[in-house]
Amino acid sequence: MIQRQEQRGRNRTGEEKMLVPIRCFSCGKPIAHLWEELHARMAKGEDRQKVMDSLGLDRYCCRAQFLGHIDMIEDIAKFKKN
Ligand SMILES: [Zn+2]
Repeated sequence: MIQRQEQRGRNRTGEEKMLVPIRCFSCGKPIAHLWEELHARMAKGEDRQKVMDSLGLDRYCCRAQFLGHIDMIEDIAKFKKN
């Protein structure tokens, strides 16, 4: 189960997928470019709260975009037409 969650959100080369919203739905701040750094630093054991603070995610609307986001591209891709 843990292994599956680690694989989710990664493509064949092991890079993080970018399916997080480009901008915060509430305030419009561009946030998608912060997703990879957030997860890279969290994987190293840094505290999520401190990483978000250092990335400039001050408003709780922007923070919520990351807290509630689940990468599902691998699951959704199984149903593509071809
Ligand atoms: Zn926001």
